[in-house]
Amino acid sequence: MHEHLTPDICVIGAGSGGLSVAAAAAAFGVDVVLVERGRMGGDCLNYGCVPSKAMIAAGKRAHAMRTASIFGIEQVDPAIDFSAVHAHVRSVIEAIAPNDSVERFEGLGVKVIRAEGRFIDERTLEAGGHRISARRFVIATGSSPVIPPIPGIENVEVLTNETIFELEQRPDHLVVVGGGPIGLELAQAHRRLGSRVTVVEAARFLSREDPDLAAIALDALRTEGIALVERHSVVRIERTDDGLRLVAKSEDGGEQIVAGSHLLVAAGRSPNLAALALDAAKVRHDKKGIAVDAGLRSSNRRIYAIGDVAGGPQFTHVANYHAGIAIRALLFRLPAKADYASLPRITFLDPELVQVGLTEAEARKAHGEVRVLTWPVHDNDRAQAERETTGLIKLVADRRGRVIGVSILAKGASEMGNFWSLALSKKMRVRDLTGFISPYPTMGEIGKRAAMSYFTDMARRPVVRRIIRFLRVFG
Ligand SMILES: Cc1cc2nc3c(=O)[nH]c(=O)nc-3n(C[C@H](O)[C@H](O)[C@H](O)COP(=O)(O)OP(=O)(O)OC[C@H]3O[C@@H](n4cnc5c(N)ncnc54)[C@H](O)[C@@H]3O)c2cc1C
Repeated sequence: MHEHLTPDICVIGAGSGGLSVAAAAAAFGVDVVLVERGRMGGDCLNYGCVPSKAMIAAGKRAHAMRTASIFGIEQVDPAIDFSAVHAHVRSVIEAIAPNDSVERFEGLGVKVIRAEGRFIDERTLEAGGHRISARRFVIATGSSPVIPPIPGIENVEVLTNETIFELEQRPDHLVVVGGGPIGLELAQAHRRLGSRVTVVEAARFLSREDPDLAAIALDALRTEGIALVERHSVVRIERTDDGLRLVAKSEDGGEQIVAGSHLLVAAGRSPNLAALALDAAKVRHDKKGIAVDAGLRSSNRRIYAIGDVAGGPQFTHVANYHAGIAIRALLFRLPAKADYASLPRITFLDPELVQVGLTEAEARKAHGEVRVLTWPVHDNDRAQAERETTGLIKLVADRRGRVIGVSILAKGASEMGNFWSLALSKKMRVRDLTGFISPYPTMGEIGKRAAMSYFTDMARRPVVRRIIRFLRVFG
C-alpha cells in the first residue's frame, strides 16, 4: 500500500551527507523521510574511506614487519592471507555499519525508504511507489567512478572502488589507471600486501598537490617497488590469457606496454544525477554536478544539494560540513555559506600527505607576495626515534603573517590536519603558532619550528639586527 508522504524534509541518499542531515533534523523533532537505493552509509562506509583505510592499515602492518630490523627486531616477509585481509576489511565495515543502519535511523524517528528516488515535478519525488511532497528536499546522492571509453576496455574485467574490496584473492599484478589519491592509496596498500603494482597516469601524479611534497611521496612509492608511468594516456586495452595488456602513449609518441592480472580504474568520478530526473524538478545541473549557490541551494528554491553531487570538493568531511550548512538553513533559516579556505584534504599514503588551505603555487597566484616557511621531518626528534624521517612541512603566510596554507608530508600527518584546519579557520598568524606549548617529542612540533623560522629569518635581516643591537646597548 503506497502512501502520499508530506514530510518537512526529504533527504535523497543515505551516505555521509544525507545521514548527517537526517540525524540532525530528527534530533530537532523534524519529520524526515530518507530515501536510499543502495547500501546505507553510501560510498564512504561501503566502497570508499572505510574499506580503503582498513586495507591501508593491513598494508602498514605488513610493511612494519618487513622493515623491523632497523629497531633491532628480526624482520620477516610476512605470509599474507588475502582472504583474511578481506575479512578484516569487512569486519571494520560491519563494526561501523550500525551507526548508519535503517534500525538506528528509524529509532531516531526517520522514515527510511529503500528505493531509488526520481522527481516527477518541482515539488514531488517518487520512490518505491511512494509520492513524497516535502517542504524541502536535500539531494545527497554522491558520485560514481568514471570508466573512460578506452578501446578494448569492454573486453576485460574492470575493478573500481565499488568492486576491488570484494576480492578475496590477491591480484598478482594490479594495473591502476589513474594516479590521483584513490589510485595511489590503493596501489600502495596492494603493493604492501604482496601484489606487483603499476600505475598509469595521463598527466602528473598527484597533480593538485604541492610538487615538492608530491615528489618525495612518489619517491617513497617507487622505493617500495611500485611502477609509476606518468604522462601516458592509455590508448588500448587487450585481454590476454593471464589478464590484460595495456598500451599507453605519451604526447611525444613514446609507447609503454603494461601487462597485468587485474585492472583498477580510478580515473575520476561523476555525480549521481541520471536517476533523479532533475529536469522535471527544474534543478539546473551539468556533468560536474548540481549547480548550487554558496548556501547549497539549487535553482529550485525547495531543493538543496550537498556532498559529492554538489560539484565541489569530494570528501566525507565536506559532505558533513555541507550537511551543517543545509541544516542551519532548513531548520533555523540562518544563512550560511560554504567556505573552503581551511578545508583539509589528505592523501592516505605512507607517509601521509596533507593540504590545508592553499598550496604555495595557489597562494602566489592569489596573493602575489607570500612567505614560505619549511621544516624537514628529519630535524624532528620524535621522527628520529620512530625512524620515520621522510617528509617536510611547508607553511605559506600572506604579507601580514596570516597563515593561508599548509602542506605536510609526514608519518601520521593526517592527525595534524585537525590542528591546521582550526588554525586556518581562526585566521591565525605565524606568531600565534609560535606562542603555545607544543608537547615534546611529537611530530606536530614541525609546525611550530617552521613558524619560528619566520622570526629567525627576520632576525637575520640587517635592519632588524641593527635594531636588536641598538636595544641591547640602549634598551
Ligand atoms: C576509494 C575511496 C576512498 C575515499 N577515501 C576518503 C577519505 O579517506 N576521506 C574522505 O573524506 N573522503 C574519502 N572519499 C570520498 C568520500 O567517500 C565521499 O566524498 C563521500 O562518500 C561523499 O558523501 P555523499 O553523501 O556525497 O555521497 P555518498 O556517501 O556516496 O552517498 C550517496 C548515496 O546516495 C545513494 N543514491 C544515489 N542516487 C540515488 C537515488 N536516485 N535515489 C536514492 N538513493 C540514491 C547512493 O546509493 C549512496 O548510498 C573516498 C572515496 C573513495 C571512492
